[in-house]
Amino acid sequence: MSQYQKPPELYDGLRLHQNENTGGCSPRVLEALAALRPEQIGFYPPYAEATRDVAAYLGATVDCVALTNGLDEGIMALAVAYLRPSVGGPIPEALVPEPAFEIFRFDTAVAGGALVQVMPRLDFAFPLDEVLAAVTPKTRVVFITNPNNPTGVLAPPDVIRAVAARVPPGAIVFVDEAYAEFAGASFVPELPAFPNVVVGRTFSKAFGLAGLRIGCLVGAPALLDPIRHAVPVYSVNVAAVAAVRAALKDLDHMKGYLRQVAQSKELLYAACDRLGLRYWTSSANFVLVCAGERTEALVRGAFARGVYIRDRSTEPGCAGCIRIGTGIVAHTKRCIEVVEEVLCAAR
Ligand code: PMP
Repeated sequence: MSQYQKPPELYDGLRLHQNENTGGCSPRVLEALAALRPEQIGFYPPYAEATRDVAAYLGATVDCVALTNGLDEGIMALAVAYLRPSVGGPIPEALVPEPAFEIFRFDTAVAGGALVQVMPRLDFAFPLDEVLAAVTPKTRVVFITNPNNPTGVLAPPDVIRAVAARVPPGAIVFVDEAYAEFAGASFVPELPAFPNVVVGRTFSKAFGLAGLRIGCLVGAPALLDPIRHAVPVYSVNVAAVAAVRAALKDLDHMKGYLRQVAQSKELLYAACDRLGLRYWTSSANFVLVCAGERTEALVRGAFARGVYIRDRSTEPGCAGCIRIGTGIVAHTKRCIEVVEEVLCAAR
């Protein structure tokens, strides 16, 4: 397994390649950061109030929420907790319906687990029968991202219920809801009835806190316990704690961004229709677009014009596909201009 290649650090153009919030955080967050006192920065951070606020936002109880340094840290800790082989035991299997958030593959390898990939259907609908058929007594984690990255496709909750009913005792279903706010759908309300499901959330996307690194895992305390042991004691810093509390007091800011994203996606769909580019209707803040043989030229041409979009053509089922972030409408309009310019120049 090759190692994860971080995208290059490009901050001098329009970043539409990492599904970030192109509008940034609420001004309330900046006020909260500016109000931090020297002794707050001098002490290790307290988590009780932020955990309470996050739990209230998600409609979960406090003991079912573990804050993490970005959802990335939560996924790594979950992999370490559930996919590390025990001495003399079988190699635990991680089941990943593809195309998927690539980190699942890398974290599975770091933990020492075995990766079992389920290949996609043509329309990227969730391959439920194939996933159920791939479950074995060694399955320890099934990774489901909903809505999915890089496709933006939303799976119905029945899919999660069915997988949770099939996995062996001791295994978990991880539902990565990094983009849940954009979809307006979450499995969190169902968690009390599903004691083997863990949901992951992040404040990077809808709330625009990616630079501060804060996310969380939600699930039954017994499921979270081994994961908590794999998270460094004070991994969420005091600025992130202050920021998430302030962000949750300004839900209007977040909802305004959701409206921008919805409008942006409509503009991008219309542009793709005009340009004859296939796309998949997205429930997230990005759209997967198929540019076929024009992919490389399009990504390179956009790059030269300061617009960064992500070539996903090496991901399973994604040959010729580009993922384009759809945030603030003005940014999307600029991206569409550039895409049109590059494609027309290539004709
Ligand atoms: N899960 C998915 C599906 C993602 O796309 C991302 C962000 N790229 C993450 C998790 C990680 O989010 P965070 O910024 O909270 O680490």
